[in-house]
Amino acid sequence: MQLYKEQTLKIHNTLSNSKEIFQPINDGHVGMYVCGPTVYSNVHLGNCRTFMSFDMIFRYLKHLGYKVRFVRNITDAGHLENDADEGEDKIAKKARLEQIEPMEVVQRYTVDFHNTLQKFNFLHPSIEPTATGHIIEQIEIIKDILEKGYAYEINGSVYFDVVKFNETNDYGKLSGRKLEDMIANTRALTAQSDKKNPQDFALWKKAEQQHIMRWPSPWGDGFPGWHLECTAMSTKYLGESFDIHGGGMDLKFPHHECEIAQAEASNGKSPVKYWMHANMLTLNGKKMAKSTGNNILPNEMFSGENKILSKPFAPSIVRFFMMQAHYASILDLSNDALLASEKGFHKLMDSFATLDNLETGTISGFEVSEWKQKCYNAMNDDFNTPILIAQLFDAVKHINLIKEGTISITDKDKTQLQQYMNTFVFDILGLENNNSSDADSDKLSGTVDLLIQLRNEARSNKDFATSDKIRDQLAVLGIQLKDGKEGTTFSLS
Ligand code: AMP
Ligand code: ZN
Repeated sequence: MQLYKEQTLKIHNTLSNSKEIFQPINDGHVGMYVCGPTVYSNVHLGNCRTFMSFDMIFRYLKHLGYKVRFVRNITDAGHLENDADEGEDKIAKKARLEQIEPMEVVQRYTVDFHNTLQKFNFLHPSIEPTATGHIIEQIEIIKDILEKGYAYEINGSVYFDVVKFNETNDYGKLSGRKLEDMIANTRALTAQSDKKNPQDFALWKKAEQQHIMRWPSPWGDGFPGWHLECTAMSTKYLGESFDIHGGGMDLKFPHHECEIAQAEASNGKSPVKYWMHANMLTLNGKKMAKSTGNNILPNEMFSGENKILSKPFAPSIVRFFMMQAHYASILDLSNDALLASEKGFHKLMDSFATLDNLETGTISGFEVSEWKQKCYNAMNDDFNTPILIAQLFDAVKHINLIKEGTISITDKDKTQLQQYMNTFVFDILGLENNNSSDADSDKLSGTVDLLIQLRNEARSNKDFATSDKIRDQLAVLGIQLKDGKEGTTFSLS
């Protein structure tokens, strides 16, 4: 029997603002769409947090036995500066500044995105479609919305008529806004704008002469509006109504609100059963963002090359740090918090070896079945990873008590504990036990420092044969010594 039949998963639905029992539209199958990155610069840790939350959710749904089709797109066109309808395309701007093709920008940062996700041990989505690969589908939706009377064409651009839509539907239901309030709080349109109302949003924009990312359409050369790509790709791969749509909290309005409006205008159906929004990673109490420069890149984290960090942090430590917070809570990144996570992570990893070596007895002083269900309860309660981690540490405490001989464990319980520790730590949280590298790298640098000292002594004794031998043999092993003003340092090639 599939696990999902035994476990009752509840998800906080942002649309109803309540926790609901998860019942997919088609029994046993889950369709999940998550808004992907706009590939005009390196992903920062904030972006990674949102994607990681949905990686964990994907992992748990799969673990429960669902057949999950997980679609996460790549935004490679249509996302304009300031997330608005005016301004330059983010990718085209980068291409102009660097004097390269927009698709070179897209390629470079898509590769960075994939490399980063691999370091963090992400699972691959089932489909990773691009906006530029779905221009035809986007044009078809625009035609449909125009036909149904919820959009208008003006000077080669097509806008969604929010006021008209709101007469029969509820524009603002996801973000809890009222159109009347939005209208009251917006300044009048500028003279250059073609829109009838400031709340209207672009489905298709006419490409001015200098706009290099352009496609032919029934309304002339142009490019699609940012919100449309997600409607086109989610509908194509998951259907007009699907189970889960996710993204960062900052996408709720206008992006997701507009996605709902487009889908409802085009096919009259509510597109998504459960809307899920991951909360922000902050730095110094402020949202991490590309635009403000208040961010840390994953590689800075792994190398320790950032002024707020006292040392490098391996990907699994960062992943563990993120998993210690609930996906819907704000999480502030700091060196101290990372150091604490590192300690906890090692404690958790050490317990695996301890567990493997435990001697077994005739009775168990630890209720493994009960503990296992508590772990599931945590995950069933809207993917509550901090509570799950608290349960994992309860197991660690008991593993240590067994080791000390204070309590005992039966062979059967030990096997079950091993199985579920593995399941929750590696399969569901997605952690990797490869961080002995921290301890190993301490040993390596201690050893090389000792050899540098011996080499210095040999040199001061004019024993150049020995000093050269140390340098050359280290070079053969891939360790380069560099003599500088501050002394000798080493690097690994
Ligand atoms: P973008 O590439 O800007 O479209 O963002 C990609 C994803 O990262 C979106 O789901 C955003 O909501 C999310 N995101 C952006 N900044 C942060 C942050 N500071 N913390 C968590 N998620 C973020
Ligand atoms: Zn989207």
